[in-house]
Amino acid sequence: MVDKRLMSGLGIETSLLGFGCMRFPTDPKGAIDEKTAEKMIDDAIAAGVNYIDTAYPYHNGDSEPFVGRVLGKYPRDSYFLATKLPCWQVNSLEDAEKLFDSQLERLNKDYVDFYLLHSLNINTWRKMKELGVIEFCEKLKADGKIRYLGFSFHDSYEVFEEILTYRKWDFCQIQLNYMDTGEQAGIRGYELTEKLGVPLVIMEPVKGGSLAVLPDDITAEFKKLDPSASTASWAMRWVGSLPNVKVILSGMSDESQVKDNLETFTDFKPLNDEEKAAVERIAGLLEARVNNGCTGCNYCMPCPAGVNIPRNFKIWNTYGIYENVNSTKWQWEHDMDEAQKAKNCISCGKCEKACPQKLQIRSDLKKLQSQLDGLCYK
Ligand code: SF4
Ligand code: SF4
Repeated sequence: MVDKRLMSGLGIETSLLGFGCMRFPTDPKGAIDEKTAEKMIDDAIAAGVNYIDTAYPYHNGDSEPFVGRVLGKYPRDSYFLATKLPCWQVNSLEDAEKLFDSQLERLNKDYVDFYLLHSLNINTWRKMKELGVIEFCEKLKADGKIRYLGFSFHDSYEVFEEILTYRKWDFCQIQLNYMDTGEQAGIRGYELTEKLGVPLVIMEPVKGGSLAVLPDDITAEFKKLDPSASTASWAMRWVGSLPNVKVILSGMSDESQVKDNLETFTDFKPLNDEEKAAVERIAGLLEARVNNGCTGCNYCMPCPAGVNIPRNFKIWNTYGIYENVNSTKWQWEHDMDEAQKAKNCISCGKCEKACPQKLQIRSDLKKLQSQLDGLCYK
């Protein structure tokens, strides 16, 4: 059976592996392949997974009703169901009430165990406070409609500290993996939760799949350490070695991922000191694969031609590290405004005078535009 961890303040034991319900297998039309996905959930539950995490927007709204139906086979007190309020859709208290009611209906449940304010950043956090959504959620808890209140988070460490110290949260959820220790809440955020005794749920332990499939030379480094261990298992074990991590979410998309995770989390072994040092060394090898040393400091901005210089470099450097073609294509085609792309540079040179890293910004922008276009239009 998979290992469990005690959330001591809440007096409950959650499985260290949580089932993330945002990346189920799909059919050619994009609908959830319910037969396969149900078997994946059943196999995970049979192996001891008791934390199931969905959200209002996952699978275009189909995840909650599907998960609710599958869990209907199991006694209600045998699992913990987590879902999230889509804060970006909440512009009044009435919106929050309607969304929550529709979530209970979609899930076909009387209560939610773990309820999160979804994807808080400084703007949504301020909006939730101003609208009184925190008090609304506290009332849901008092009425027994949710058991534990928390939030998931995507912004800077400073914003994380502001939110985490605002009230006594039952738990919270952050992105953390061996490559993102300095991103968002990061390892400082982890340490703060430990100090305050707020149990942590971790998302993106394999960085959206990037740490599960690495370039060949990096994979070979992991294979030298243990030829039988999957690359993803190293990332899971790195996160699970942090004692205040109580649940690690994995958005599993096929049965082989379920099997690999169940192997990692059954008789879970935290990394020993030697293994920790090896993972840190390999993380350094990955970092060194960046195309240029842009730190994202923003000193070069604004650009008079509208180029979002750090964003262009971020996508290019992430591609350099992981060689993840699909994710890079998606970011370049769908998550980057054409007006902010490198091609709009008019070569004025202003940015290069401001860059503390002394980067050859103009020539790098030309290189990246051609390389990323090449990936997308092959
Ligand atoms: S050189 Fe190009 S990227 Fe740099 S400020 Fe001028 S227009 Fe913008
Ligand atoms: S100033 Fe240089 S290092 Fe900073 S964001 Fe711009 S390009 Fe990157």
